[in-house]
Amino acid sequence: MDGTLTQNDLSHVVEADKAHVWHHLVQHKQFETSDPKIIVEGKGMRVWDQTGREQLDAVSGAVWTVNVGYGRKSIVDAISEQLMKLNYYAGAAGSIPGALFAEKLIDKMPGMSRVYYCNSGSEANEKAFKMVRQIAHKRYGGKKHKILYRERDYHGTTIGALSAGGQLERNAQYGPFAPGFVSVPHCLEYRAGDQGWGDLSGEAYGQRAADAIEEVILREGPDTVGAICLEPVTAGGGVIVPPAGYWQRVQEICRKYDVLLHIDEVVCGVGRTGTWFGYQHYGVEPDFVTMAKGVASGYAAIACCVTNERVFDLFKDDASDPMNYFRDISTFGGCTAGPAAALENMRIIEDENLLENTAAMGEYMLGRLEGLKDKHAVVGEARGKGLFLGAELVTDRATREPMDEKRTAAVVAEVNKRGVIIGMTNRSIPGYNNTLCFAPALIATKDDIDQIVEAVDGALGTVFG
Ligand code: PLP
Repeated sequence: MDGTLTQNDLSHVVEADKAHVWHHLVQHKQFETSDPKIIVEGKGMRVWDQTGREQLDAVSGAVWTVNVGYGRKSIVDAISEQLMKLNYYAGAAGSIPGALFAEKLIDKMPGMSRVYYCNSGSEANEKAFKMVRQIAHKRYGGKKHKILYRERDYHGTTIGALSAGGQLERNAQYGPFAPGFVSVPHCLEYRAGDQGWGDLSGEAYGQRAADAIEEVILREGPDTVGAICLEPVTAGGGVIVPPAGYWQRVQEICRKYDVLLHIDEVVCGVGRTGTWFGYQHYGVEPDFVTMAKGVASGYAAIACCVTNERVFDLFKDDASDPMNYFRDISTFGGCTAGPAAALENMRIIEDENLLENTAAMGEYMLGRLEGLKDKHAVVGEARGKGLFLGAELVTDRATREPMDEKRTAAVVAEVNKRGVIIGMTNRSIPGYNNTLCFAPALIATKDDIDQIVEAVDGALGTVFG
């Protein structure tokens, strides 16, 4: 760990943090009797806290962000060179890294053509929502303005993004929300039994879950529905890999009713699932793709709302109308550190073959997590795509009764005692907060994965005997 900091320095940091920092997602009462964790340093997949304890980070910076791992000097150098040349310029002007990263990104996204820069996943989603609304006004007299979202999905923390939020824990007590957002059923096959559609599996379930979207469109009126926003693989809502045939049917429905398809790649984007983007597993053609976390692996804040030319054209078709352009700005969308870091991040993924590694290691890890079922009756299902995986815990494998949140959290804590950081999903729908969550960096090796799974194995043994 960083030898330049003395124990006194670190104690001061802890006291300053306790006195003044309001941590994300934390009930602070606990810090009356314990210290907050301060992460001091990171290298590769490992981090060190203020006590000097080394931990293998199996969630890439708590929220699935540091895709290429910690301590990448070449990204830091790219940022610093760019900042010395030009740190910032916003508004109507472009920048060198902004243009070059957009070109490189679009090269990985056949069918897409335009990149709108901003600085968080929530904001990127808001941009897409605003574009949908503006299109509704321009083309449909404001009528085709509704945006569909799915139970268990999450699209960000602002009130607009929460209005499209399908997760109880993130939404409760923050309403009232914006009008014009309508929920569709989730597509978690393992929980199909709760949805009242009978005993369906595989493609039949995929069709049914997607048909539920059509039912909502018909109920609301197709002339009122402008877009649907979906995660390719749902993240915090349960690590939900969509069932067979689901995405193809969603695409058909969107085309049938002229509903724009917005895919939220804030988690899956830039390699996490073993392809550049999660939707590329399913052969769909989105109108909007939003991304943030892995774009620059957390070395700089950057988010993008990417559209196809069909959407872009709608904002420049009639230049004689002074209101006919996207009347939106993002102050920190003008920071050049983001695209400079993102360019180097992408070069690393290409040069180190990290997509291939992610696909191979993801398969290996899924197999190892599935192997835990033989030893631990509480592991109901292991699922995932690439290096984004979950293990859903149950109290009874036959009835699939969900494990309670307290014991799921106890497993996470026990894993951490073994030197590994994992996560768990949140209370997305009542009664469910029972899925362990894994998103190791795309550089993970078999040894790293073995260490993660062995820590989980040991923790399950300790908590459940
Ligand atoms: N979309 C998804 C799928 C996310 O998981 C998140 C954050 O976890 C967001 C959007 C919001 O991103 P941000 O926290 O950068 O605003």
